[in-house]
Amino acid sequence: MYYPEPISKLIDSFTKLPGIGPKTAVRLAFFVLNMKEEDVLDFAKALVSAKRELTHCHICGNITDQDPCFICQDQSRDQSVICVVQDPKDVIAMEKMREYNGLYHILNGAISPIDGIGPEDINVPSLLDRLKDERVTELILATNPNVEGEATAMYISRLVKPSGIKTTRIAHGLPMGGDLEYADEVTLSKALEGRREL
Ligand SMILES: [Zn+2]
Repeated sequence: MYYPEPISKLIDSFTKLPGIGPKTAVRLAFFVLNMKEEDVLDFAKALVSAKRELTHCHICGNITDQDPCFICQDQSRDQSVICVVQDPKDVIAMEKMREYNGLYHILNGAISPIDGIGPEDINVPSLLDRLKDERVTELILATNPNVEGEATAMYISRLVKPSGIKTTRIAHGLPMGGDLEYADEVTLSKALEGRREL
């Protein structure tokens, strides 16, 4: 179907987003055309500034607008435990739970040989650096309960073993194959509580 170029460009852009098929992309593009101009400008500005102003914290790998991020800067948090997650969204899920007061390390991915993602492609080297801090006594491996998440947890656990730092894995109650970010607070809280040593 033929659309004027500005619309087909907009449709193409929406198609690049996850979960947006061609039909939805068309619907969204026409929705934007009917929006007030100032709302469209705000939307466009929000997209650009989110991309430009956010960076990865050099300590934990989380997305942040200040480096180090506010969690790494917060000395009132328990400096002895680091919770390793795959995604910045997992930090939000953990923080919502309000039961965890330690630090985080965000891998920004998981090991997945099928997709050609190896240990060197995720944020592991900086984790090993952090373990040199003598205050760290426990690493909670909270990667997703699926094949990639388990493989990543096992890999890190083996890597860390010689250092003598305790590594634990949350698993209990989390649905296998699920994503941490979608777990409800009670389930996540139980999973954290029931973590076992690797
Ligand atoms: Zn940080």
